[in-house]
Amino acid sequence: MNANLYALFESRFPQDRSACSIETHDGLLYSWNDLERATAKMANLLASLALPPDSRIAVQVEKSPEALMLYLATIRAGYVYLPLNTAYRAAEIEYFIGDAEPAVVVCSPENFGWVSQLAFKAGTRHVFTLGEDRQGSLLSRAAGQPDTFATVERKPDDLAAILYTSGTTGRSKGAMLSHDNLASNVKVLQEAWAWQKGDVLLHALPLFHVHGLFVASNGALYNGSKMIFLPKFDGAEVMRQLPRATVFMGVPTYYVRLLADPAFGREACAGIRLFVSGSAPLLLETFTEFARRTGHTILERYGMSETTMLVSNPYEGERIGGTVGHPLPGVSVRVVRDDGSACGVDEIGGIEVKGPNVFHGYWRMPEKTKEEFTADGFFKTGDVGRFDAKGYLTIVGRSKDLIISGGYNVYPKEIESIIDEMEGVAESAVIGVPHPDFGEAVTAVVVLKKEARLTAQDIIGPLKSRIANFKVPKQVHFVAELPRNTMGKVQKNVLRQQYSPA
Ligand code: ATP
Ligand code: MG
Repeated sequence: MNANLYALFESRFPQDRSACSIETHDGLLYSWNDLERATAKMANLLASLALPPDSRIAVQVEKSPEALMLYLATIRAGYVYLPLNTAYRAAEIEYFIGDAEPAVVVCSPENFGWVSQLAFKAGTRHVFTLGEDRQGSLLSRAAGQPDTFATVERKPDDLAAILYTSGTTGRSKGAMLSHDNLASNVKVLQEAWAWQKGDVLLHALPLFHVHGLFVASNGALYNGSKMIFLPKFDGAEVMRQLPRATVFMGVPTYYVRLLADPAFGREACAGIRLFVSGSAPLLLETFTEFARRTGHTILERYGMSETTMLVSNPYEGERIGGTVGHPLPGVSVRVVRDDGSACGVDEIGGIEVKGPNVFHGYWRMPEKTKEEFTADGFFKTGDVGRFDAKGYLTIVGRSKDLIISGGYNVYPKEIESIIDEMEGVAESAVIGVPHPDFGEAVTAVVVLKKEARLTAQDIIGPLKSRIANFKVPKQVHFVAELPRNTMGKVQKNVLRQQYSPA
């Protein structure tokens, strides 16, 4: 059987292919037939270029139905899809193109000048453009191609995509994902989240990241469900479209922004069956406030570029705020001590994972790949957490953000959770900065709510009575907002740099 992911999707398209597969925010409708034909045309165009096997197709374009079709066409033609964050500028694109050596680059028409220069320098022979409103050379070249295409045979372990990590902890690494990695995950999520006939996904996430591409889009495609495509997250637009959808997925900041609008509440969410959050920690306050305002319990799950989804709160059972839930079926997740032995209940350690969803290594980084796998084949996620007695996993941070002060381990999340609960605090980030005596000094960076007037003492005082002295921040900095990347992840490396003594 052909293990090509596109073949799997196609086998699940609804019988009535004239039904709507994608609707845009401005009212354009694409049927499943349109999807099939347009991907065939693009796949034929790629095939006509006579590219070597396993060629990477690097894509940095604004979100549009055609951008999703380009992903599907690449997979269909048997090549490797490589999406790039639209925020990346010349220095970053030069690194990614140089590292991945793509055979084809597709960029926005307005970036063609500088992107094509970088691409040609790196040996790429084909550069196409694709704009958010169907402009550009990709579609005009594909237009003359036949609208049927025999999906290329792929084996389960053949590469389908290289997904660069978000670069939150350092330079992005290319995670090599196979057809089976993606297929196994979409099947597991379909069951775990009880995707249903008639589901409609409101898609507000970007397409260059695991969340919007492999969780949201793949989920809808595999379920034969219509997607309502928003070019980007916009609170007012989401509120307008929510009543027409049944499933919504977002990063925590989307939920924070929705709640910031006093008009957001039960009415807007009445038709929704499932709200999913991930990519960064969902604050307990957001989880609780969302339930109070809408009557919906957000389902938080945990995943990453290297593994797609690995842990999720239950669809049926209790969804516990502050936790990411249980390992998904078929995925083994363990929490271990530094010596590799298993942690007990509630004991904090490194999170490791094994399963059909786990990637095939970092692109052109064999040494790094070797380092990140254990002898028995588990991937070290770099996240730190603990399982409770009911088997729910709580993430307490990343091992790189762990603070060692005076020889003691300090988990930032523990302190952040207490600070976040304080009257007048909107959110916080706790980091370690170099210190001559302690090695690292615990430092808190705090965002206050509007109108709140707090001093460093107001933060430190209450902490002293609740946690051991070595965990209490030595310094507190107040800021207007925390630095975040496009996926809403707090960039602690930026904060560490900023607050380290010169
Ligand atoms: P890099 O690996 O380049 O530093 P990154 O890890 O942020 O960047 P991604 O693969 O996009 O790149 O993100 C995966 C990470 O996001 C996870 O390892 C975890 O730290 C975090 N994450 C994802 N979901 C959750 C969640 N529900 N709660 C807390 N953290 C989460
Ligand atoms: Mg990572």
